[in-house]
Amino acid sequence: MTVKGSNARTRSYSDTSEITLLGRRLSALDLTREISPDIPVYPGHMKVAMWDHLTHEESRLRMGDTPFRGYAVKGLALCDHDSTHMDAVYHFNPDRPDLTIDAFPIEHCFTEGAWIDVSDVAPRTHITLQRVHRAMDEAGIERLPEGGTLLYYTGVAKNWDDARTFVTQYPGLDAEASHWILDQGVVNVLTDAVSTDNPADMTYPNHTAHGERLVNHTEVVNNIDRIPLHQGFGVIVVPLRLIGGTASPVRIFAVWEPGSATG
Ligand SMILES: [Zn+2]
Repeated sequence: MTVKGSNARTRSYSDTSEITLLGRRLSALDLTREISPDIPVYPGHMKVAMWDHLTHEESRLRMGDTPFRGYAVKGLALCDHDSTHMDAVYHFNPDRPDLTIDAFPIEHCFTEGAWIDVSDVAPRTHITLQRVHRAMDEAGIERLPEGGTLLYYTGVAKNWDDARTFVTQYPGLDAEASHWILDQGVVNVLTDAVSTDNPADMTYPNHTAHGERLVNHTEVVNNIDRIPLHQGFGVIVVPLRLIGGTASPVRIFAVWEPGSATG
C-alpha cells in the first residue's frame, strides 16, 4: 500500500487519503475516533489513562556511553469499550463465552457497506423499522448487503466535544428494526453513538437482538455522514485479539473507487 500526496512527505495526519491497493486506486476515509484521556466515555465505564512510562532520557540511564538518543514508552490503561470499539457477542450474551472479541472472523473485517441517515430521530427515543425503511428509500438502498455492514448515523457525532450530550442524547434501534436488519444478513452494525440502544430503554432491545442472533456491533464510529456514497463502498474494521475481551478498540476505514462517488 502506498500513500500518495503531501501526507507521505510531511507525515501529518489527515482523515482522508487516496491509496493504491493491489493496483487499484481507492479513496479512504478514517471512521475512527482518537484515544486519549480527554475523550467522552459511556457513563460508568473506565476512562483512558496514558502516562510517560519511560522518557528518552530515562531509557539512556541504563545504556552508558552511546550516541543512541534513547527510546520513549507510554503506559496505557483503558476499558475495552473506550473510543471507537466493537462489542463482542459475549458482551450481551452470557451463554456464549466462546464468542469473545478474539473470535471475530477475519472475513467480517472486510465487507461491503451501506449507510443510512436517521439523524432526525429524537434523542432518547427509538429508531423504528418504518424509519429505517424510509432512510433506505432516501438513500436509494434497495437491500442491505448480505454478509456486509450497515452504518447508521444518529447525528450525535457532532456533539463529541460536549461529553454530557454525547453520552446521553441519542436514539437507539428498537427490537423490530434490530431483528429486521439482522434478517438481511448483515454481520456488523455501526453507529456514531456510544450505544446502539436508546439510553432511556433499560431493556436494551438492540443488544438483546444481537445477543440472540450472535452478531457483533460497533459504537462511537466517526465520519459516517462523510462517506460520499450510501452503498457500493467497502468497510475495513479490525479489532484487536484481546483474549476474553468483551469488546476491542477498532480502526475503521471506508474505501471506494473515486469515480463511484460522483454519481
Ligand atoms: Zn460497547
